[in-house]
Amino acid sequence: MKQEEIRKTKEQAFLSLGIDREVIEFGAQVLKALEERFRTIDEIAEINQARVLHAMQKARVSEACLLGTSGYGYNDIGRDTLEQVYAEIFHTEDALVRPQITCGTHALALSLMSNLRPGDELLSPVGKPYDTLEEVIGIRKSLGSLAEYGITYAQVDLLPDGGFDYPGIRSALNERTRLVTIQRSKGYQTRPTLSVERIGELIAFIKGFRPDTLCMLDNFYGEFVETTEPSDVGADLVVGSLIKNPGGGLAPIGGYLTGKKICIENAARRLTSPGLGKEVGASLGILPAFYQGLFLAPTVTASALKGAIFAASLYERLGFSCYPDAEAERFDIIQAITLETPERVCAFCEGIQAAAPVDAHVTPTPWDMPGYDAPVIMAAGAFISGSSIELSADGPMKPPYNVYFQGGLTWPHAKLGILKTVQNLKDKKMISIA
Ligand SMILES: *Cc1c(COP(=O)(O)O)cnc(C)c1O
Repeated sequence: MKQEEIRKTKEQAFLSLGIDREVIEFGAQVLKALEERFRTIDEIAEINQARVLHAMQKARVSEACLLGTSGYGYNDIGRDTLEQVYAEIFHTEDALVRPQITCGTHALALSLMSNLRPGDELLSPVGKPYDTLEEVIGIRKSLGSLAEYGITYAQVDLLPDGGFDYPGIRSALNERTRLVTIQRSKGYQTRPTLSVERIGELIAFIKGFRPDTLCMLDNFYGEFVETTEPSDVGADLVVGSLIKNPGGGLAPIGGYLTGKKICIENAARRLTSPGLGKEVGASLGILPAFYQGLFLAPTVTASALKGAIFAASLYERLGFSCYPDAEAERFDIIQAITLETPERVCAFCEGIQAAAPVDAHVTPTPWDMPGYDAPVIMAAGAFISGSSIELSADGPMKPPYNVYFQGGLTWPHAKLGILKTVQNLKDKKMISIA
């Protein structure tokens, strides 16, 4: 097709999704300035694709690995090989990658509960951990928490400028500090996401005083954004969810832990049982999705990153502040946009929902989610329920009225979704495209 023909056909295709000429044109203008950054993202995806491919070949992934086991799952070659592949990608001694790990919080709780013993202390040197960990640790009183087992918790907040409070961390480290938990992504906070380089500096500092203290990484949303991972800079244990980056949108459940052999063995014995460890845990029919999802993960992550940068660039142009800002280097796939009013947050989420492949016809509304102090609106028409590597957005109904946007299995879909949010805000006269 000739250029002009492509342009017209594309306009038709976008119009049929309810995106008008003005919004298409606005998107195209903003995109022009992003070409070079997108090229860099593609380069990183190529490097990571090679990293994943090399690991699969080195572990000799074979057709037999895609079959599953049932019952106890002894000698599950596909499961064991996949764990080798993860260990190879992350340059670690061992890994645990299982559908029996039900979600991200479970993966983190498993890591903590299995590697800490009564009398030990857990330290977070990067401020408050992810919301759902509060009950795991016992920051909020909870049945079965680490606190109930006599495991104490200490926290050192980041400095106002986002830097590490080194003197504070130094004085918090003591002979009982068995494990340090470091959250890479900002989650729902406004603090910088940590780059692998900064994580390395923090770990080096901690190990300088306490070489035996284990450093664990909450690596959610960070996998394949850079070409190295926290385990390349000294992390003993790296933890994540398969319905975020490393599942590539195909894994329907699961979590991974990768790191030192002893850390993984502890976790396996907690997940199954002492004496059984990694030897049991049937993979049933799930392994093709785990392998193929991992294979796609570098390009899926790249698509999500492009979406985040495109969204920030558009909304900054519309006069809203974005976090991180459009120019900032990226270390995770989450984009926060301060929309200033609850109506705009809702309109944004409606736009994302309207661009979904599943449930596009439903209208998201704010609701009182357990564990949150304000109603939350969520947009997600995902193939995998709750999957946030798929195009999704959510926002708590409270000032400053931020919407958190992430995911996109393909860049064209991320782009359509973002344009749809702009269209919806425009139709409701909540923005003006200058
Ligand atoms: C998603 C996430 C978690 C928890 O994962 P769930 O699957 O929601 O339980 C923990 N930490 C961070 C930073 C996350 O983004």
